[in-house]
Amino acid sequence: MRVMAQVAMVMNLDKCIGCHTCSVTCKQTWTNRGGVEYAWFNNVETKPGVGYPRRYEDQERWKGGWALDRRGRLVLRSGGRFARLLSLFSNPDLPSLEDYYEPVTYDYDNLLSAPAGQDMPVARPRSVLTGEPTAITWGANWEDGLGGAPEHAGADPNLSGEWAEKVRFEFEQTFLFHLPRLCEHCLNPACVSACPSGAMYKRVEDGIVLVDQDRCRGWRMCVTACPYKKVYVNHATGKAEKCTFCFPRVEAGQPTVCSETCVGRLRYLGLLLYDADRVGEAAATPDERDLLDTQRGVFLDPEDPGVRAAARESGVPEDWLEAARRSPVYDLAVRYGVALPLHPEYRTLPMVWYVPPLSPVLDAVGAAGGDQDDPDHVFAAVTRLRIPLEYLAELFAAGDTDVVGGVLMKLTALRSYMRERSLGGDGDETALRAVGLTPGEARDLHRLLAVAKYADRYVVPAAHKEDAAALDAVENRCPVGSPPSPAGPRGVALGMPTVRRRAPETPAGGRP
Ligand code: SF4
Ligand code: SF4
Repeated sequence: MRVMAQVAMVMNLDKCIGCHTCSVTCKQTWTNRGGVEYAWFNNVETKPGVGYPRRYEDQERWKGGWALDRRGRLVLRSGGRFARLLSLFSNPDLPSLEDYYEPVTYDYDNLLSAPAGQDMPVARPRSVLTGEPTAITWGANWEDGLGGAPEHAGADPNLSGEWAEKVRFEFEQTFLFHLPRLCEHCLNPACVSACPSGAMYKRVEDGIVLVDQDRCRGWRMCVTACPYKKVYVNHATGKAEKCTFCFPRVEAGQPTVCSETCVGRLRYLGLLLYDADRVGEAAATPDERDLLDTQRGVFLDPEDPGVRAAARESGVPEDWLEAARRSPVYDLAVRYGVALPLHPEYRTLPMVWYVPPLSPVLDAVGAAGGDQDDPDHVFAAVTRLRIPLEYLAELFAAGDTDVVGGVLMKLTALRSYMRERSLGGDGDETALRAVGLTPGEARDLHRLLAVAKYADRYVVPAAHKEDAAALDAVENRCPVGSPPSPAGPRGVALGMPTVRRRAPETPAGGRP
């Protein structure tokens, strides 16, 4: 067992109001510069919708993430080293600017300097890239608030199954929820393995994935390989940039900017301890519906004395072990199992997880003429919610509706129990028992999901600066092991090129 620690995130989608504050504050911090006007390290999508860039979830088209070859080996969908070499100067699997959107500004000056006349002066849109007047025809969230949904959301790649006819786009029949997205800082990052220059790397001490701007040669293999399309090319420098998980803040023990400013208070940050020796095996799990369990199996119980001893041996500091014990991410993703990874079938083992949204379940019981106090009626309603289980399963469980249904039933039982208690009753424990929760666990989960304060939501231990010199010395070490690859050092499985323990002088995100 090789114990490593990673800072990870959970988002409770029930609480996201789609205000985009996280995206704007992230942009102001990291991409408020020339060359990355179109880039949103954090963006908030409306689902159903095609996302940003358009249809990024269609891996048949974009070749992102990992797949198993005929011998069951993990291979990059974008191909081995030779295939990628052939597409070095002409890569057909890169989204174009049109797939993101053309950034615009407005002729604000016209509002102030237009001569007096009959008509009200207007500020016309102008392309930031060419400076020419332009028409706004696309954006990072064109479906926002259902604005473009009737026209475009049907092209959502998650709506490919026969069940998709359950999704309606007519007013009063449809549904929407918001999906905030950032780099997943994956345990098995395809971007790192695809980079021919060794510029992308995963930090050993906290798992944050960064780009070394000095090493990046602009080959853009990382853009193709990332199935979440969370690497962007700065068109001014020609180099890759991506979410940095706000590492300067995290090193100081502070939450990321998107978390700090989240209006819905739906983000949680915490450490996860994991067994680096089991990452490769987990990512290569044959049945993609088992990937959730195998990824959870890689995470280690921070209360286990054996794990703590092994972690100390691996150099995890004592205060980090304490932080791992208090981690809200461990509680939500593993202990209570209510958070799920986004598209586990991409096999990158993502580390930003989501509590799926629960539609108004009691309304659904009432609409069906059921008894809102009868757990059987309430559980039955979960399968008839306006957001079809199949849709959530496509997003969070490789299509397995039992997994998503199980989480929603747990949340429903919790809601029903706490509702009764807050109305002065004792709370009926029958429903809780049916979903495997004790009353104490239910109260703890309720505290986490509903009333957690700042210090409970963000448990981020500060970096140990005294280790900085030792961390700098760690080069060419992969945190998850790298089996030899017949397709070249970075073509297959977990071949991670260069891993440093600290950010370089000119770190990822492009900021010197
Ligand atoms: S989500 Fe982030 S870490 Fe994962 S493959 Fe994409 S860029 Fe790399
Ligand atoms: S700030 Fe929070 S509530 Fe607002 S869009 Fe972002 S994640 Fe959702």
